[in-house]
Amino acid sequence: MKCLLCKADSMVASTNTYFAQLPNGYVIIENVPCLKCTQCGEVVYSTSVMERIDEILKAAQAVASKIFIMNYTEAA
Ligand SMILES: [Zn+2]
Repeated sequence: MKCLLCKADSMVASTNTYFAQLPNGYVIIENVPCLKCTQCGEVVYSTSVMERIDEILKAAQAVASKIFIMNYTEAA
C-alpha cells in the first residue's frame, strides 16, 4: 500500500498510541491497530478502527475523569 503523504510504497501493519483531546479531558488509547509508513511515519487507521475509536471516545467522555487511558485490545 502506498503512503498518502510521501507516496512511498512502505505502509506496514503496526500499532499506534492514539491521543485525543476532549472538552473535559484527554484520552490515550494504546495498541491501536494501524498502517504505518516506515518512510515518514504517517499513520492510517481503517474505517472499522476509526469507528471503534469513536465509541471509546464517547465512553471516555461519559467518565468524569480528566485523563482516560485504555488499551485498544482490552476495550470491551
Ligand atoms: Zn510516508
